[in-house]
Amino acid sequence: MSTFWGPDFAALEREDPEIADVLVDEVARQRDTLQLIASESFTSPAVLAALGSTLANKYAEGYPGQRYYGGCGQVDRAERLAVERALDLFVAEHANVQPHSGTSANLAAYAALAEPGDVVLAMGLPHGGHLTHGSKASFSGKWFHPIAYRVAPETEEIDYDEVRDLALAHRPKLIICGATSYPRLIDFALFREIADQVGAYLMVDAAHFIGLVAGRALPSPVPFADVVTGTTHKALRGPRGGMILCRAELAQRIDKAVFPFAQGGPMMHAVAAKAVAFREAGTPDFRGYANQTVRNARALCAGLAAEGMRPVTGGTDNHLAVLDLRELGVTGRDAEARCARAGIALNKNPVPYDPERPAVASGVRVGTPSVTSQGMREGEMRRIASLIGRAVTADPDTAAGAAALRDVALEVGEIVGAFPPYPLDAELLANSR
Ligand SMILES: *Cc1c(COP(=O)(O)O)cnc(C)c1O
Repeated sequence: MSTFWGPDFAALEREDPEIADVLVDEVARQRDTLQLIASESFTSPAVLAALGSTLANKYAEGYPGQRYYGGCGQVDRAERLAVERALDLFVAEHANVQPHSGTSANLAAYAALAEPGDVVLAMGLPHGGHLTHGSKASFSGKWFHPIAYRVAPETEEIDYDEVRDLALAHRPKLIICGATSYPRLIDFALFREIADQVGAYLMVDAAHFIGLVAGRALPSPVPFADVVTGTTHKALRGPRGGMILCRAELAQRIDKAVFPFAQGGPMMHAVAAKAVAFREAGTPDFRGYANQTVRNARALCAGLAAEGMRPVTGGTDNHLAVLDLRELGVTGRDAEARCARAGIALNKNPVPYDPERPAVASGVRVGTPSVTSQGMREGEMRRIASLIGRAVTADPDTAAGAAALRDVALEVGEIVGAFPPYPLDAELLANSR
């Protein structure tokens, strides 16, 4: 008989009640408040089981069939399944499933495609890009020569003319598209054309939206890019981690850049959990989730616009929206804090050409993968938009404002109570006091 020795919560409670408490409180937070962080979703119990397995004990530097340690027969099966499933799901020529995170995947992609000091053209951080797209605080801006493209001030969409002009002027080795807070589709074909015009590699950082590509809710960058990097823990609903897809002729360079250049031993429990997530992402259920996530974002964005928040770019094509709060006279920082008091988790976010410092910001970002995983639909999005409108305009320093935030928190509790993210198991609930 086979035995799975997995998460044993009773053991944790016995041995380390302090950490057990944290876990219990975090379940409560995720269950009892509203999760609108655009980079989060809910992993399945199957993914969590793989993460909590003894594969966490295994050292497996190298790749299946070519490891530096013995005893890798089992983990080799897991990694081969993860790779096969990623290739199927994304219709790609090569996949590396070992990156520990999106940032590790990007570091490896830079290492495979460019040398220190090379020019890299990518979206500026204040315009929706990521730290790894040339910020001085990251390897990308310290070791490479970043040139930033922006969104056009009138449309707030990527200024492709500027991208082309900058590419012609600076002759980058590598062009990157893909963003953390950009609500529109990206024209991958046009980026490919610009990259070809100047002989640059094209890397698409699909960290945020690769789950929606998997669920066929957004167009795939794979046919256009030399390299696609991604995370497995955002809309894809897998374990925390990264991945890289590339054309066959870059396979060896990418693999060597992940290990041994950027990382040591892979986290085989996470690799197994990635395999589980890729299988799930191929199901009709997941496609339903991905497409509903986009419909929900549209409904939420329209609802927030009706509350007086201006959607950056005028709307959304994907799973997130950025709202400019200047017409309400509220900063992003205050809006985030007020929503937090009302049980709504979202984040402040700069709007294009924001006059405020990033720590204050004029906008907020909201995303729908989590609430969609919970089963919410357009009706709930409209209700949530009106709750956010009430929370954002409630000044907690006044009695009326504080009361309004309490009222909103009660309604938030009603909504999330009807959509538990995980099955409500009577025994588990009893365990959690
Ligand atoms: C989230 C994100 C990353 C980084 O992922 P981590 O796993 O947090 O390192 C990289 N690029 C983009 C565009 C992202 O949105």
